Amino acid sequence: MSIVITGATGHLGRHVIEGLLEKVPADLITAVVRNEDKAADFAARGVRIAVADYNTPETFDGLFKAGDKVLLISGNEFHKGRVGQHRVVLDAAKAADVALFAYTSAPGSLTAALADDHRNTEAAILESGVTYALLRNGWYNENYTEQLAPVLQSNSVTQAAGEGRVASAARADYAAAAVAVLTGEGHENATYELSGDTAWSFAEYAAELGRQSGKEIAYNAVSVEAYTGILTGHAGLPAPLAAILGEVDRSIEKGELAATGGDLSRLTGRPTTPIADSIAAALNR
Ligand code: NAP
Repeated sequence: MSIVITGATGHLGRHVIEGLLEKVPADLITAVVRNEDKAADFAARGVRIAVADYNTPETFDGLFKAGDKVLLISGNEFHKGRVGQHRVVLDAAKAADVALFAYTSAPGSLTAALADDHRNTEAAILESGVTYALLRNGWYNENYTEQLAPVLQSNSVTQAAGEGRVASAARADYAAAAVAVLTGEGHENATYELSGDTAWSFAEYAAELGRQSGKEIAYNAVSVEAYTGILTGHAGLPAPLAAILGEVDRSIEKGELAATGGDLSRLTGRPTTPIADSIAAALNR
């Protein structure tokens, strides 16, 4: 039996591998990676490395064994058809008769188009008949705290979310929940709505950032159209990505990412990381 993590060299995947290393022997962990060099540190610690790509089904041939527990970390290649990519991993896991197939999904309340891939992947998982665990991850604190340079330069947090609130948590919290599911009992065919314990507004976020940085930082609430214009213009983002981010803000304004149901802290056995802590970590980096 192995605990197999795809996307292991991504931000979330690295946290999951670190969390697993604290709980199980390294040779029980398999990191699935595209680039073996990026996983050299894991290999040096005894983690098994498998090289595979969601775009190349044959790279998953024979990768999983009966009884494995698998975590499929959703891909980030929006333009390549993520549902088809995820099906490649699912089909291989189903063929191998794995014991558990966990998937990092999106909140059930999210209507932004970004959620469609997750909804369709969940449907494929249910249809396949594998024993599953759906980890519907809410928003990462780091979605905001990793973008501080332009905010600190302009002294403004520009978003199109109005007074909407975000119940975000740190990536490390979501990773700890995945580790709990992969190493614990009783998660078969469970669906978890994972989110932070506290929801915050962008006005509160700007105020906290101002307090910690010693600057006057305002929340500049703009329309979705103005926001996508700023992202494609000044920030240089591709139009499809800007449209996705604009839609997410519209969802935030509607309260779709504000639920604080407590599944995440219940799974990890500790409170989630407040946004203020992630701001502090980013400012001190
Ligand atoms: P990330 O750092 O971008 O990691 C994505 C991982 O997917 C990387 O390890 C990448 O491999 C792997 N991957 C991408 N395409 C692949 C392919 N064709 N074959 C095999 N592996 C592939 O993202 P993250 O922060 O860890 O988040 C994990 C996932 O959550 C993201 O991919 C995205 O679906 C979703 N997400 C959620 C939020 C949220 O707030 N909840 C925010 C952003 C993204 P390499 O290491 O080789 O690049």
